[in-house]
This record gives sequence, structure tokens and C-alpha cells, in this order.
Amino acid sequence: MQLRFFGATGGTTGSCHALSFGDRTVLFDCGLYQGRRQESYERNARFAFDPKSVDAVLQSHAHIDHSGKLPMLARHGFRGAIHATPATRDLARVLLYDCAKILESDAEHLNRRRAEEHAGRGPRRGDLLPQADLEPLYVREDVDTALTRFRPHAYGEWFDVVPGLRARFHDAGHILGSAWVEAEAIEGGRTTRIVFTGDYGRRAQPILRDPEPLVPCDVLITETTYGNRSHPSAQEGTEGLYEAVRRLAQRGRGRLLIPAFAVGRTQNLLYLLARGVHAGAIPPVRVVVDSPLATQATQVVADHPDLYDPEALAEFRRYEAEPAFRTRLSFTSSVEESKALNRDPRPCVVIAASGMCETGRILHHLAWHLESTDTEILIVGFQAEHTLGRRLQEGTSPVRIFGRACEVRARVTPMLGFSAHADREGLLEALTPLAPGDPRVFLVHGEDDARRPFEVELRRRGFTRVEAPSDSRAWTI
Ligand SMILES: [Zn+2]
Repeated sequence: MQLRFFGATGGTTGSCHALSFGDRTVLFDCGLYQGRRQESYERNARFAFDPKSVDAVLQSHAHIDHSGKLPMLARHGFRGAIHATPATRDLARVLLYDCAKILESDAEHLNRRRAEEHAGRGPRRGDLLPQADLEPLYVREDVDTALTRFRPHAYGEWFDVVPGLRARFHDAGHILGSAWVEAEAIEGGRTTRIVFTGDYGRRAQPILRDPEPLVPCDVLITETTYGNRSHPSAQEGTEGLYEAVRRLAQRGRGRLLIPAFAVGRTQNLLYLLARGVHAGAIPPVRVVVDSPLATQATQVVADHPDLYDPEALAEFRRYEAEPAFRTRLSFTSSVEESKALNRDPRPCVVIAASGMCETGRILHHLAWHLESTDTEILIVGFQAEHTLGRRLQEGTSPVRIFGRACEVRARVTPMLGFSAHADREGLLEALTPLAPGDPRVFLVHGEDDARRPFEVELRRRGFTRVEAPSDSRAWTI
């Protein structure tokens, strides 16, 4: 039996791990590498294995860095089943169509740049750009095909993946529908228990149940995103959000702009705002979600109250029964509506993507409101290097938006404590009970400066067989 890793080794995107036994191959996730446009295109353009040889996929959750290549797998001949929870399938539908759109515009952008280079306009970048026109990695029709392959399974329900391998999902408490996978493979009369954490969540997150504890196993594949970091408490994040809303109400004008990821973060913010209004912790303010993707994802979350923790279920009932928050919440659909919002003088909270201020409608809001002292920008997520979000977080001014230099007069408030991943302590708490069994441990989904110190700590806690694998090498298990 062999394991190979095809992404997210020393990084946090492109998760894809393959389990082979006999003549069968099963993937844990099939994610897209995400980074700079051209490098991403090149790294995603081919598979390091034959998609036709893959018999099934065990899908941990819907985030694109874990699911974004499923349509490409289907496009290149994969005929098997994609096993996932029902909510993962529903969120994947929303996210994969959106991803297909982005991939089409990425290919167009690269082709345009290449045409300009060849015509002698635009900067020359040597032979970096491809010689022929690029096709999008996949299109809407490939998403249609991939969606027909989904086989939904409730948490806790065993199912056969291929002969000799069964599996079941457990709640990972990361985003709606997220799972860690427990698999049992039987080969030559020997049973091997494999646990794959996917993205492991944290306790006391809004809406979601706490992650279920891991079970003893022979092989553990674990994420290490925050293997070297501790998060501020969720309570600190909530209090910071409420203080910013109170400041907006006190000013009586301007904006509270919150760049947020469409899936997970946006719904958590809405939930906390609703709870704050119902409990009287913050005054009822107008809240606008200005992102079609976030609107669709919010609908999926609203369709799955069966997955909420008891507190969230009670809050959801309250939201339906009491008008205080509901009547002040709106979702814009058209670009015109979004632009009209900028001319509306009334104070409001605007939640818009992208979470790092790189693309999307948040840019229009920033262009309009950054130069006003009546604006506050709440940074609620991780901001990667070279992004506008990072420059704002670091206090850079002026910043360029749509080619124009904008003086930053708005207040910028970094607000940590909203992460959906377990931090170092959370991961150690989940893994340490497994130490007496001393499983083979494979550390993935983490930068090396996170997974190396985490490896040392695991050894200190009694794990003797810990690996930080690199791409493609086969490991016999
Ligand atoms: Zn994730």
C-alpha cells in the first residue's frame, strides 16, 4: 500500500494525496494550487498522475484549495465517485462554478498579455509566457460533469469506496460540511486504519459544532497550517467587531468595510452581528453583503440548520422571529446596486470579497471610502504578502486602486481571532491522544516554518515516525 503527495507539501494550497493499493487509486482531496496567476496556471495545468487511473475521491471539504481541480479531473477522464458530505457538495457547486469563471478570465488575461508582448507593447518577460494561446483549465461544462460524480454521505455513515476500502466522515468543525476522514483498508488480510484531517477546525467557532476528536489509527495525514502559531481567542475577535460597530453608530455616518472570504467568514460575521443585535450588545445597524458568491454561500448555510451547534440553531430561530437584525440586512445582486450603495450617505456595514482586497467589489468600496475619516476597515483574515489587504494592514499610504493613488485616511483595524483552523495548541490537543499508538504521521498543508517546529513537538510528545513529505515520492505504508 502506498501514499503519494501531489500538493500542499510545504505550502497550504493544492491539497491532493493519493492512496494506492493493488491496482486501485483513491485521492484524498483534489485541490487547486493558488498563487500568482501565471505560476498557478503552470502548476495546475497538468496532473502528475493519470486521472483515468483514479477510482474515487474522498473529499474533505469544499474550499477551492482542496476541491478546485475536481472538474479538471473529470475533464481528463476520471469516471469514479467523489464522496463528500451533502453540505460539501452544495458548497462545492457554488464555489466550482465561480472558480471556472475566474479560470476563464485568468486564461484571457494571460493571452492578452502575451499578445501585447509579441506586438512589442507591454513589458517583455523573456520566454516566461507560453508560445500558444492558453485554454482555461476547465469550463462550466466540466463543473456540470464533476457535480454528477458526487456521492453524499452523512457524518458517521460507513461507505464502501472501492473493494477493500471503506470510509466515513467526521465533523471537522472548519466550514459547513467539512470532514476529517477515517478509512479502513484491507490488503492481504491486514487492516490499515488511515485518518486524514483535511482542514481541522477550532472549538467555539460561530455556527459550527466543535471538531470531533480523532480516532486511533496506523497512518495519520494531518494539516499543519498553524503548527507554529497561537490564535487570539474567538471572544477577542467578537468584541473587536462589536466595538467597531459601536464606533460606526456613534459617528452616525460613513462605512464599516469588512473584506471577507465568501464562504465561512462572511456567514460567521453575519451570525455574530445578529447575535450582538439580539442581545443588545450593539445597536441595530444596516448590514449589506455585497458579493454574489457570499450571497449564494450564505443560502447554502441557511439550508443546513441540521449542521449548526445548539446555540446557532437558537439564534437562527430568533433571526426568523425577530425583525431587529433581519430587516436591516440586505444582499446586493447587480453591479448597479453595488455602485448605488456608494452614493448612499447612510451609515452601514459592508461585507464584500475578496478577503485580501485583491479583486471583487471590495475594491470599489475602498476606492470610494478610503480617503474619508468616516470610514473604518476591519481586517478579519490572514493577508498574504503583496496584497492590498496586507499594505492596508501595515499602514501603507497612499495605496494604488484602479491605477489611482488613494490617501488612506480611514481607520484600519486588524482583528485576528476569526481563524477557522485549529492553532498549534488545538492541533496538539487533537493529536496527542494518538501518541500511545505511535502511528506513521505525514505532515501536510503547512509552510515549512510551521510544520518543522510542529514535527519537533510531535516527537517530543512520543510520536517516533513523523514525516514532512515532499511531492510525488511514494511512501510504503
Ligand atoms: Zn479549508
